[in-house]
Amino acid sequence: MIKLENIHKYFDQQHVLKGIDLSIKKGEVVSILGPSGSGKSTLLRCINFLETPTSGVVEINDKRVDVTSAGKADVLSLRTSTGMVFQQYNLFKNLTVLQNVMIGLTSVKRMNSVEASKVGKDLLEKVGLKDRLNHYPAQLSGGQQQRVGIARALALNPEVLLFDEPTSSLDPELVDEVLSVIKAVANEGNTMLIVTHELNFARDISDRVVFMEDGIILEEGTAEQIFSNPSVERTRKFLSKVL
Ligand code: ATP
Ligand code: MG
Repeated sequence: MIKLENIHKYFDQQHVLKGIDLSIKKGEVVSILGPSGSGKSTLLRCINFLETPTSGVVEINDKRVDVTSAGKADVLSLRTSTGMVFQQYNLFKNLTVLQNVMIGLTSVKRMNSVEASKVGKDLLEKVGLKDRLNHYPAQLSGGQQQRVGIARALALNPEVLLFDEPTSSLDPELVDEVLSVIKAVANEGNTMLIVTHELNFARDISDRVVFMEDGIILEEGTAEQIFSNPSVERTRKFLSKVL
């Protein structure tokens, strides 16, 4: 389980996260919706310290980290408890597909390369890429690159998977192959936090939906509640514009 308590983030004078509280149970799939600039990516990045939160507490599986006093070991622990899938894939361009998935296992987990290669191949088979092991990212379609990104995020068997608009860089015809892999990952019982503009997908996959605006959580509820009967006018407007 993952719990955020009163997370604030400033970029210089700009107050981007204004006290975010959010709990996600083990196996729960939570989507974050909200307009551009509302702080969705910043929130995900604060969970694994890709951005350092200004204040608050991040708790993953009973390990509580007060961000104002977080040390190196705390940051490492949060990083290895989370797997992140980025909008722009962020693969290592000079490594093969298999090496991209293995690297966390050999460098962070100190797994030997024979074993890491076995785990990597299994994960790549799961995302439908077992015939692309020795390709380089540039030789793959966007959808294939993102599926490598998902396999890489799964490799360390993290407590929570964080997805930041995993399909918004993709050509429309490649979106479905990635969404169906994400759905399969969700169906395996993984705990997931997903920022997405794919509203039908969010509705289909989420146990809970969070609507963010201007650095706060304006509303949260089941997918059904948020999509069929949002209680906040702003949520209603946002959904009616994009649906
Ligand atoms: P989008 O839907 O467009 O991806 P978002 O909800 O993910 O938007 P964020 O990327 O979290 O929004 O940005 C929130 C605010 O924080 C924006 O005003 C942005 O300019 C600012 N911001 C984000 N990252 C940085 C940074 N590294 N330095 C300074 N300001 C930043
Ligand atoms: Mg963003």
